[in-house]
Amino acid sequence: MVKVESPFPEGCVSAVSLTFDDGLKSQLEIAVPMLNDRNLKATFYLNPKGTKTESDDWLQRWSIWKTVAEQGHEIGNHSLTHPCSRALGESLDVHCLEKMTLVDIENDVLEAERRLRLLTGVEERTFAYPCYQDFVGFGPTRQSYVPVIAKHFVAARGRGEYPDNHPLTCDLHYLWSLQAEYMRGSEMIGWVEWTAQRGRWLIFTFHGIDEGHLPIPQRAIRELCDFLVKRRDIWVDTVLEVAKRIANWRKDIGVQ
Ligand SMILES: [Zn+2]
Repeated sequence: MVKVESPFPEGCVSAVSLTFDDGLKSQLEIAVPMLNDRNLKATFYLNPKGTKTESDDWLQRWSIWKTVAEQGHEIGNHSLTHPCSRALGESLDVHCLEKMTLVDIENDVLEAERRLRLLTGVEERTFAYPCYQDFVGFGPTRQSYVPVIAKHFVAARGRGEYPDNHPLTCDLHYLWSLQAEYMRGSEMIGWVEWTAQRGRWLIFTFHGIDEGHLPIPQRAIRELCDFLVKRRDIWVDTVLEVAKRIANWRKDIGVQ
């Protein structure tokens, strides 16, 4: 039974979700065992693409993530081809959001969805916007693709103007998150405490751990996980589980 005054489980003052993007090796080798040892569940956003073409060895390449799903973690959708703005680079000759239409992005995301369902056997998941960007086109043709995502997913993670989300007012299809690369453990713990004081939901975005792009030190993430295990009054769960509970709570109290 969801309480009217708070969507969080009995005894919890706030929520935290740990999310990891792009399916990096260190997430499997470091983050998954670290989380499993502490019985913490996280969300891993993958792009289930093959190494050469989109129809080659994708299933074999991503098969190890099936085990991660079976351990209770969420395997989220991060699109198939990870399209971002060309403005991040210096070339016009790239696959980018500026060249895509709403139909293009929907097809890309739904193909990723078909593959993730096949891979994990799980039907329900959340989405994370590649590079946190939620548009296609540019200038006069630029438009948000958040409504496309809202048609197919319970929730989606972006970046936003502030690191955490209020359960009553946040847009479940463009959730804000904290980019945690290069952060110290104490800095992340500070954000968790600040979120707890204000009854909000903090979503961390991680990439590599001691390797890969946008990395975070292993020690920092371990400090955060140890802190979360001790704080019984902070609900730690996947983006899917927290979002579903908030959506049900909003329905109960008559809020969209
Ligand atoms: Zn990404």
